[in-house]
Amino acid sequence: MSDAEKSEKKRDMDSSSESRGQKAESVGNRFVIHKHDASNLHYDFRLEIDGTLKSWTVPKGPSTDPGDMRLMIETEDHPLEYAGFEGVIPEDEYGGGTLLIWDKGEYKNSTEKNGELIDLKKALKDGELSVELDGEKISGGYTIVKFRDEDQWLLIKMDDDYADARRNPTSTEPKSVASGRSLKQIKDEEKPEKPLDDQ
Ligand code: MN
Repeated sequence: MSDAEKSEKKRDMDSSSESRGQKAESVGNRFVIHKHDASNLHYDFRLEIDGTLKSWTVPKGPSTDPGDMRLMIETEDHPLEYAGFEGVIPEDEYGGGTLLIWDKGEYKNSTEKNGELIDLKKALKDGELSVELDGEKISGGYTIVKFRDEDQWLLIKMDDDYADARRNPTSTEPKSVASGRSLKQIKDEEKPEKPLDDQ
């Protein structure tokens, strides 16, 4: 492909992802947790904030036990369309490996300071946010708090009605909430594809 064709293709992709983005933006408050079998198995926790998917890698995935703190590594923002992706990313591409939609749903911002709700963009800058998740596997309040280095955060379950120290959903509910498939089924059934032009 010539450079001119490449930039033409990129423009097409850009404008189509833009319009999809706008459509998706009307939801405004979704979250998705991808299970990602890349060079190592991990989870990616993504919150829709201000038209993009704020993303963290969570090596062990979320816990429902308020006594557990799960490490999160901040990664780059992903486009909104990425929330719906499930499949196999070619090994030589960014995120190469099998991606499964482990949980998804909507969330509510519950970040407060002195009784006032704090905007999530500001909460991110301040390094502490609280959200109420409404997913199929994961629900209730979670605190996401930055610690130590710039890109290291903790995911902590709040002690509410959804807290349950005995549940271990990452091991007992391993399959996709989008398709009911396991990572292996997805790997066997899907052809490798890039989830998005620029990813
Ligand atoms: Mn990942």
